[in-house]
Amino acid sequence: MKNTFIYKVAEYVFTAHRDDPGRVKVIFPNRRAGLFFNHALAGLTGHPVWAPEVLTIRGFVEEQTGKKVTDTLYLVMELYGVYKEIIGSIEPFEDFYPWGEMLLGDFDDLDKYLVDARDLFRNLKAERELTQDLSYLSEEQVALLRHFWDHFPEAPEEGEAGKFLHVWEKLYAVYEKLRRVLATKEMAYEGMLYRELAEKIARREWTLPDASPVYLIGFNALTPTEVKLFEALKDSGQAFFFWDYDEAYVTTRAGASLPGHDAGRFIRKYIRRFSPPAGLNIFDNLLDKEKEIRVYSSPNRTVQAWVVHNLLEQWTKEEDVQKERIAVVLADESLLLPVLHAMPEEAGDINVTMGYPLQDSPVFSFFGSALTMLKNKTEDKDGNTLFYYKDVLNILHNPLLAEHRKTGWHEWEENLIRQNKIYLSSDGISAEEMVMPVFEIPENSIQYGQVLLDVLHKVLSFSSGEEERKDGGLNIEVYYQLYLLVNRLNDFLEEKDLPLSLTGYLNLLLYLAGQSTVTFYGEPLTGIQVMGVLETRLLDFDRVIVLSVNEGSLPKPYAVASYIPHSLRKGFGLPTYEHRDAVYAYYFYRLIQRARHVALVWHTESDAGQKGEKSRFISQLQYLTQKKPEVTNLYFSPGMGVTGKLCVQKDGTALSCLQALVAGEDNYLSPSAMNTYLTCRLRFYFKYVAGISEPEEMEEDMDAALFGSLLHRAMEKVYTPWKEKEVTVEDLEKILQKKLYRKAVDESFRDELYDGHEAPPAGTVNGVQMIIRSSLEKYVRKILEYDRKYVAPFIIKGLEEKVIHKLVITVDGKTVPVQLGGKTDRRDESHGRMRLVDYKTGQKKTDFESIGQLFDPEDKNRNAAAFQILTYVWITGGDVPVQPELYFVREMFRSDVRQGLRMGPGRQKVPFVPDREDMLGFEEKLNNLLVEMFDPQVPFDQTPHAEFCTHCPYNAICQRNRSSEN
Ligand code: SF4
Repeated sequence: MKNTFIYKVAEYVFTAHRDDPGRVKVIFPNRRAGLFFNHALAGLTGHPVWAPEVLTIRGFVEEQTGKKVTDTLYLVMELYGVYKEIIGSIEPFEDFYPWGEMLLGDFDDLDKYLVDARDLFRNLKAERELTQDLSYLSEEQVALLRHFWDHFPEAPEEGEAGKFLHVWEKLYAVYEKLRRVLATKEMAYEGMLYRELAEKIARREWTLPDASPVYLIGFNALTPTEVKLFEALKDSGQAFFFWDYDEAYVTTRAGASLPGHDAGRFIRKYIRRFSPPAGLNIFDNLLDKEKEIRVYSSPNRTVQAWVVHNLLEQWTKEEDVQKERIAVVLADESLLLPVLHAMPEEAGDINVTMGYPLQDSPVFSFFGSALTMLKNKTEDKDGNTLFYYKDVLNILHNPLLAEHRKTGWHEWEENLIRQNKIYLSSDGISAEEMVMPVFEIPENSIQYGQVLLDVLHKVLSFSSGEEERKDGGLNIEVYYQLYLLVNRLNDFLEEKDLPLSLTGYLNLLLYLAGQSTVTFYGEPLTGIQVMGVLETRLLDFDRVIVLSVNEGSLPKPYAVASYIPHSLRKGFGLPTYEHRDAVYAYYFYRLIQRARHVALVWHTESDAGQKGEKSRFISQLQYLTQKKPEVTNLYFSPGMGVTGKLCVQKDGTALSCLQALVAGEDNYLSPSAMNTYLTCRLRFYFKYVAGISEPEEMEEDMDAALFGSLLHRAMEKVYTPWKEKEVTVEDLEKILQKKLYRKAVDESFRDELYDGHEAPPAGTVNGVQMIIRSSLEKYVRKILEYDRKYVAPFIIKGLEEKVIHKLVITVDGKTVPVQLGGKTDRRDESHGRMRLVDYKTGQKKTDFESIGQLFDPEDKNRNAAAFQILTYVWITGGDVPVQPELYFVREMFRSDVRQGLRMGPGRQKVPFVPDREDMLGFEEKLNNLLVEMFDPQVPFDQTPHAEFCTHCPYNAICQRNRSSEN
């Protein structure tokens, strides 16, 4: 602590103003450093004193001009009015907003960099030569301007160049009028105030209002307006300047380690002009021989979080560790959630301080999905609203709703996918009541933002808090930011009487939210710090882990939204990418200069425009430091060592999610869930415990994937009139002769595809649907013929029946209540025997060796269909023996077809009609399976059969094939 920059400055201030620190003004580039400064000062005084006035530079400028910076929404609104008047644009406000915001940013730069706007926005047509007095620019800058205009087209009235020029030539008038309008209304953007103060200084109309000493601490890149202010303060004799740097990159003396390095580009320029007091011996640490720098490469972005896990687990065991002196720095802020989830228990309190992008949070994606759904909605011919299924699923898949999914949600979704329902009405959506308002169209656009807030409020209030604790309150913070944003936008629209269309409102809301970040303030003085790069400014840590030290993240790519072309920006001395690279170089070297242990993690994954390349800063370190960094290439995955296999332990969260699967009236484990478990425990975890939906794509052009659900529904419709009645051979003859099953096929299409609507939504019928309809009729007919020939007479006892069986198992001496259940296709009674019928549209598979084989995950030929129907037989069976019947419908076209299971070793298989003893054996195996599923000692691990992974929807997350290659 005593060797930190902030502590040394606090010590200096305290020593110099021991009697009255309260009369000192301390100015920092950002707010956070002030907090650490006050903390250090409090430790030095040992008794209560008036603290110095701590300000940011912007706060100081506001104080000195007596004006406040206005909210951007209002500024863009004023600009909109001026722009419309001068340029003649008639685009709606919401479309203008991003453009207006960019233009305001340019005007802000012009003012902070004291650029003459008239010179910049010159009239090219009237004057292709640079005749104005540009003597305030260097020769190089003038040459750049000349180059730009010389290469501008001669006759630019047409095309993009013409449009550019049309706007360009009027921008001075827009700039000038906007400033006048804002001044009249006592409004201002930041640069306007900076220029106002700098111009007052230039006219000698400003001096410090009192004799307070002013400390300017930790600045790096200064704008010309700031330089003017620094000079005036220096001239006053009341200012003290402190720069945070390392000799290695700032000194220019011969033999310096990093002479002319970008990291020191700005400080080298100012340190003589605004010299710091002597005696702070903390500026020669970067190349310390004791410093340990390790470089890790990770196979993908997210896995970097597990490097944090492992390092923290190791560091927190060391004796001299102070947790508040450890920082985990995220150059890519979207890693916040994976990092929080990967924190080891030993980490203890975590404090998060960063500009976390709202758009990376589940709360934002809930908003975003709802807004997209409304934009994509359509109507049927009766004017009823229909939602596109993917938009609905996007909402319901949101992790925030994981605890609020309606019972049977998985089955509902599976049906939806199987049945290819492309458009859904709100009454066809399976969601808890508290979520349903999202699917109701609001009367006016402003109300919808409020509806979403209300739903989210309820969802967050009724959550168990488990996730929230893991996420460090992230969702609550994001919700709060969105709450402020929606209210701010709604107030603004009402105040300005600016009615927006629903789409316009949604676009603007999404745009504003997408621009926003959440800044956590937590308790920064205790616990491990998780931070963004910007938040590390002026702070020193003993141990630092930096993630995503990749090109594209550190430094960030140059993406200044500006209407001013690069060469003109450069010509007029406005910031460009060279400026940004130097700023990031400073952040990086400053961050590691005083740390004793540094871990730099980069990833090799190419995505989102990044090439998976390590940052230039790592390469520089390898050449520049006296002691080369130790480089470690690791292939980390959660739960595995360097080259292990991915598996998830049944810790508190996983176990409680597993138990939630079978708790409550209607929650149960289905045979298909158990089949998934037997196929691969990890896949079961992804799908049922973690709730990560299989990214199964619907076949919107309706191919064979739809067939199964249509067939099931059609068979249900055919036999519904015969429930509890006898179906005779004659009845079936009549159905077949009169083709009565056609009505059932029509109804299945109506229910399964058009969400209960008679006619399909416009544009959703195509030739493939007609082919499927005709094939479906043939299959239904074949089943009816089979029933007539082999089964009739029979009595229909149940169709699409929901069945549930409750039982209690004992795990580790503790009882665990479990429910098994699902839906059976058909239960009937034929010739005195109860039968359970399961219609199958896949390949025929009726054979199996033994009951034990059905439960053997090692056997890759395990018969999952037999397991499924026998589980239903066990669930439904009482004392009456039940006969399982698998109707493999593709087989029905063979003349000698007989359905039914066959059991036995090798070729000695015989038709299987389970008796009581068989079912007792089945029960015993089932019980063992359930005990294993709920046993905390048995992790969710990968299947031994690599071939199962080829078509596994989770193989990208699991990377089993990759780890098996290692
Ligand atoms: S990829 Fe293979 S090991 Fe991984 S979850 Fe899927 S089936 Fe299991």
